[in-house]
Amino acid sequence: MSDAKPSPAPNASAGPMNGAAAANAESIAENIRAAILEHRLAPGAKLTEAQLCEVFDVKRGPVRQALAQLANERLVDLEPNRGAFVASPSLQEVHEVFEMRRIIELAVVERIGKGHGTRRLKSISTTIGRERRAFENHDFSAWIRLSGEFHTELAALTGNTVLCDCLSGLVARSTLISALYESLGKSSCSFEDHEAILAALDAGDAAKAADLMAQHLRDVELKMLERPARGAVDLKEVFSRPGEREKAFGA
Ligand SMILES: [Zn+2]
Repeated sequence: MSDAKPSPAPNASAGPMNGAAAANAESIAENIRAAILEHRLAPGAKLTEAQLCEVFDVKRGPVRQALAQLANERLVDLEPNRGAFVASPSLQEVHEVFEMRRIIELAVVERIGKGHGTRRLKSISTTIGRERRAFENHDFSAWIRLSGEFHTELAALTGNTVLCDCLSGLVARSTLISALYESLGKSSCSFEDHEAILAALDAGDAAKAADLMAQHLRDVELKMLERPARGAVDLKEVFSRPGEREKAFGA
């Protein structure tokens, strides 16, 4: 992703920009994205344009373009007259996301328990196996993605595409919040919980599966409500020490 491609910037409306500047913007966005997802930049950290220009040795144009791209991805909040900050979804937003997930996912478990899709539970078991392997291989990003897929694939067994679309959006938002707040190598969306839910469905015990799913979503939500302190950050230092991810994961 960070290789310089002479492709046009995805957001052409942000102003005229030559190929090199667009490539710069993409590469800067990639660097900042990695720093956020690897927790070198905490939620709420200020992203000062002047400092970023200095760090990446560019003018303001590509930095603004990169910040606009990250704002599109909800990783960055752009606040009028205050500047750019690493996104810090409110506690209310976390609560609302999980309130909706509970409503949808308990309905999913109930429908599957009534026989919709029970024959295809094996594919879910495969996903959990991949989740486990990603964890064992310390492949953090695959693991986070697969733990979300457990939830969306379970929903797909209902055959209701509108329900699946709703849940996919909610899971994507949960994954983002989780990436922003949870420590690397730790997640309460664990494959052990997923295995227990699947086992209950497999045994035809829909009530138990629903209880386990409710408990699982409560645990994940509580985990996301734990907030680290906000503070000033030295961007030069952040971008001078890449590779924290492996260290943090192994710890
Ligand atoms: Zn989960």
